[in-house]
Amino acid sequence: MTVLVTGANRGIGLEMVKQMKAQGLDVIGTARKPAEAEELRATGARVEQLDVTDAESLAALAETLKGVKIDMLVNNAGVGGQAPVSFRETDFAATDWTFAVNTLGPMRVTQALIDNLDAGKHKTVIHISSVMGSIERNRGGYYGYRASKAALNMMNKSLAQELGEEGYTCVVMHPGWVQTRMGGPGAAITSEESVKGMLKVFAGLGTKDNGRFYDYQGESIPW
Ligand code: NDP
Repeated sequence: MTVLVTGANRGIGLEMVKQMKAQGLDVIGTARKPAEAEELRATGARVEQLDVTDAESLAALAETLKGVKIDMLVNNAGVGGQAPVSFRETDFAATDWTFAVNTLGPMRVTQALIDNLDAGKHKTVIHISSVMGSIERNRGGYYGYRASKAALNMMNKSLAQELGEEGYTCVVMHPGWVQTRMGGPGAAITSEESVKGMLKVFAGLGTKDNGRFYDYQGESIPW
């Protein structure tokens, strides 16, 4: 089984590659700067360059991976966006960037690698989103980040309708509040715990889960 994980040089993505390699999977981990991704290279995974916002980088990855079957794509790369919670302070340049990475990025990656996924056996696309993209669970603030993840969730749902007819499983995951650069040191769980849970969920995924939104413990999250 071959898996490609974006944003794999640190945080949740790096931990996912480590645990997947330990399970004996073939893993391709992407990084914006592979030369600086020592920990990722040390996992033994195949490392490729990718900036999810950059058309040239996406085209180069597709070219490099021509003919490689990919069973599972994990669109993990993301940015936290602007921290201030007030509407009056919302910065639109930061919000534009948040959407470029968190929403359009995964769409671009999936489109760039669709031939690889078509050729794969499992045809699974995972979007690492967030409970912060849940409209029902919205507690205010973080306009750009929340909206970028809600839009990602909507994109996943459309993808699930279209690609579901071709046997794909497209799922949205909330990794928990995780101790990474984005989650901060005071977050609730370690990346080890988050990824351990998510890999259990991944292992049980099938077409019955197409279009669903789960957390790292396999609980459904309301839209
Ligand atoms: P980190 O900030 O630790 O890591 C983010 C990763 O995304 C890095 O590898 C970073 O690469 C990469 N990245 C950022 N921008 C781009 C880009 N333009 N192209 C390619 N890669 C990029 O975050 P986490 O590991 O915590 O987050 C991973 C995912 O989990 C994100 O989608 C996030 O929204 C989600 N999430 C995280 C939560 C948490 O509590 N930590 C909670 C809910 C969701 P580089 O090093 O080059 O910047």
